[in-house]
Amino acid sequence: MRKKIVAGNWKMNLEYAEGISLFSEIVNMVKDEKKGEQIAIICAPYIHLNSLAQLGGSTVFIGAQNCHQKESGAYTGETSAKMIKSVGCEYVIIGHSERRQYFAEFDELLAEKTIIALQNGLTPLFCIGETLDERNNGSYFDVLKSQLVNGVFGLSAADFSKIVIAYEPVWAIGTGLTATSEQAQEVHAFIRKEIAEKYDQTIADDTSILYGGSCNPKNAAELFAQPDIDGGLIGGASLKSRDFVDIIKTFNS
Ligand code: PEP
Repeated sequence: MRKKIVAGNWKMNLEYAEGISLFSEIVNMVKDEKKGEQIAIICAPYIHLNSLAQLGGSTVFIGAQNCHQKESGAYTGETSAKMIKSVGCEYVIIGHSERRQYFAEFDELLAEKTIIALQNGLTPLFCIGETLDERNNGSYFDVLKSQLVNGVFGLSAADFSKIVIAYEPVWAIGTGLTATSEQAQEVHAFIRKEIAEKYDQTIADDTSILYGGSCNPKNAAELFAQPDIDGGLIGGASLKSRDFVDIIKTFNS
């Protein structure tokens, strides 16, 4: 059975005390409202991870937003998957479009990051998505397929079964432009079909595929009601406890 997941991505926001305070609010609110099988995750900047992992317990899981592709070594300023795991994190975002765009991260590098994350017991939330030009010129299925093939389809079936895919159209991230539920469902169904062709139908059926891009409490219910959308990766709305918890609650409504 695939899992229902709502993951927040705080990006480069919140000083230490602000992060603790927001996270504490979320944990308290989720304790009362989370009833089903859904999983809530907060992906925070590195400085928060250790403290949040202590506070989260099994109510809200913690993820990082990136990791380095090597196990350890002379890579000044970087943080390894092993270090992230060592503070109690369970998840790591890999291949967010902001990493691809501003830090020149490309599919083959992201494939290495995915492998090292898995080797260290982290669950990768692997992001794919097309730009507005790619959507408008109709090449988006090719773009998404190539991100899958070069990023994660090199994994063994056993490893692939451990990852989560996030479809995040670049034109919808932080813009207020959400993909319609039909647009998102079309792509999610395509991703699931590609997984079935590469691996098998059971693995495809068991893979959680999240939607990300200006998801908020108003549009989450319609998006999450689609048969191939298993939850969301939430940026801006994860910085407000009420909005984030309301998005989680849509699974129960
Ligand atoms: C994101 O950064 O992954 C994201 C989906 O951002 P937003 O919800 O702000 O569009």
